Amino acid sequence: MFENLQDRLSGVFDKLTGRGALSEKDVDEALREVRRALLEADVALPVARAFVEKVRTRAVGHEVLKSVTPGQQVVKIVHDALVDTLGAEAAEISLNAPAPVAIMMVGLQGSGKTTSTAKIAKRLMKREKRKVLMASLDTRRPAAQEQLKVLGEQNDIPTLAIVEGQEPVAIARRAMEAGRLGGYDVVLLDSAGRLHVDEALMAEITQVRDLAHPHETLLVADSLTGQDAVNVAEQFQSRIGLTGIVLTRTDGDGRGGAALSMRHVTGVPIKLLGTGEKIDELEDFDPRRIAGRILG
Ligand code: GDP
Repeated sequence: MFENLQDRLSGVFDKLTGRGALSEKDVDEALREVRRALLEADVALPVARAFVEKVRTRAVGHEVLKSVTPGQQVVKIVHDALVDTLGAEAAEISLNAPAPVAIMMVGLQGSGKTTSTAKIAKRLMKREKRKVLMASLDTRRPAAQEQLKVLGEQNDIPTLAIVEGQEPVAIARRAMEAGRLGGYDVVLLDSAGRLHVDEALMAEITQVRDLAHPHETLLVADSLTGQDAVNVAEQFQSRIGLTGIVLTRTDGDGRGGAALSMRHVTGVPIKLLGTGEKIDELEDFDPRRIAGRILG
């Protein structure tokens, strides 16, 4: 996902580390190129600005330029600033609440919400040995409920039975009841998506939220949509309140900007990355590893 950015940055860094001494002007020039590379990777402008400013202050304000290896030091400062921007610590899904713990999945249609719901369910079953129930609240898109049911059958994940004509809030209520009665640890609620964020969707999700009191509200966002994904995240964060982000299609040739902007713009950590269509193609989001990947 970060190939282009990686190429661009390594070009900038080769110039920096290839020389013995660095002046403030050299750093400024390099940072201009870093900024350009970030913007081309679809990083939001305020994020690119803040990033470059942070690096500049750290690089110029200290003894860095007088050190024996100023180039390497600047690269290290960029690395640390990347980790900061991405969210410093890896954030996991929290199950630290009385069972059944509700996890509500939200996002636009086609973002990978249903697939990610099944991926997370499977992971919690396998890794955490939790008893998990999935329920689709998507009554708008034909066959959405059926899609989750099929994923459940294919992967041995219990799924709430479909009752025709039931509204999302009623399904959520039934799911939480089934979770309690069935002794489930976790209930994953796959909410309805839309093509755009609209009032009806927000009202519906708010109702579900107020009923299920989700411990985690995870936005599923398609990394290929770059800046749009960040805007959607901002809207969901302000209207519904998010606890984390699942960034999908990171196996595609997106420019990586969404990953870099998400935390800064929303204040919410990316928790997981979707890396393919298969049920086990889900990775923990580790800021250090991602920063390493970006810097090559
Ligand atoms: P929803 O409308 O948000 O529920 O989206 P779906 O879960 O139905 O996903 C839409 C399409 O994206 C499906 O074809 C999925 O297989 C695919 N998809 C979901 N996540 C990923 C991912 O991380 N990588 C890739 N390559 N495809 C994905």
